[in-house]
Amino acid sequence: MHKKLFIPGPVDVAPDVLEKMGTPMIGHRTKEASDLQRNITQKMQKVMYTDKQILLSTSSGTGLMEGAIRSCTRKRAAVFSVGAFGKRWHEIAEANGVPADLFESEMGKPTTPEMVDEALSTGKYDLVTVTHNETSTGIMNPVEAIAEVIKKYPDVVFTLDTVSSMAGTKIEVDRLGVDICITSTQKALGLPPGLAICSISEKALEAAKEVPNRGYYLDLLALYEYIQKKDHQYPSTPSLSHMFALDYQLDHILEEGLENRFQRHLKMAQYTRSWAKEQFELFPEEQYASNTLTTIRNTKGISVADLNKELGKRGYSISNGYGSLKEKTFRIAHMAETTLKDLKALLKEIDDIIK
Ligand SMILES: *Cc1c(COP(=O)(O)O)cnc(C)c1O
Repeated sequence: MHKKLFIPGPVDVAPDVLEKMGTPMIGHRTKEASDLQRNITQKMQKVMYTDKQILLSTSSGTGLMEGAIRSCTRKRAAVFSVGAFGKRWHEIAEANGVPADLFESEMGKPTTPEMVDEALSTGKYDLVTVTHNETSTGIMNPVEAIAEVIKKYPDVVFTLDTVSSMAGTKIEVDRLGVDICITSTQKALGLPPGLAICSISEKALEAAKEVPNRGYYLDLLALYEYIQKKDHQYPSTPSLSHMFALDYQLDHILEEGLENRFQRHLKMAQYTRSWAKEQFELFPEEQYASNTLTTIRNTKGISVADLNKELGKRGYSISNGYGSLKEKTFRIAHMAETTLKDLKALLKEIDDIIK
């Protein structure tokens, strides 16, 4: 039996989108491939509110995180972390020999504009990484206020991880001044895992030109230049299957209407939060609670593993807490094509199991 997924990636994929993954192959050096990739770019630009070049990478989101911090850090990166995925940026920097400092917030608290200002005012950093939506703690950072601060430092490249929020909440990449905005297919976009997507600004490209060892596969400047030269094709063979499905799913997303889609996500988040406050407690401060997933503090001391086992028998799956938050918290994702009706059905089952 297929369990309905309420985990923060991979998400359930609509049957018609899954079917598009099975589209017969085309050559990746054909006009059709160029057309496909150009169409995806134009649609992704709408979803991301940007007119910057879109890059696709046949990797998961982590691949483009690695590409960004390695390709565009000239001096030193300031990594702001509010959980496991924020920390990942720092691990990536270390593994690549990229100088970086980690600025962690207390568990459940956001990255504040003051923290960012304090770090950048030292003049030590020329790249900053921020997690928009931290999938471990369920925090959505105050990106508007953070972006205002970063604008005071025009030499700093602003990279933003929107892996679990893009297409589930409004993120106006150009207005915020984000230089590299990263997402991947298996979360709020509602596709199978395996493709990552980012926007890239001229500033980020200029920075990359000053970095001698950008790696090979994930060299963002090389990807950009190839696209310019070869009309939206890629240096190596991309996952065309994902591209067929993404092109199709983006039509669906734009047909739903971006504002409608964001509202649907918000309503699901609000419903889950009020349920969580009635039965347990929210893990993050409520004003920073994510619109795409809810992290709940296990105040009843239930066995989350057992809860999930029982839910499994009933055809549902949620997520335990991430890393050290396992059993202390649990997570309910409400993203991609999930509806309020689906969510209500899940929460009713949980109520029944824990009563
Ligand atoms: C899932 C996730 C990642 C990692 O993305 P992959 O596509 O699994 O590599 C990074 N950041 C956040 C916030 C995520 O939710």
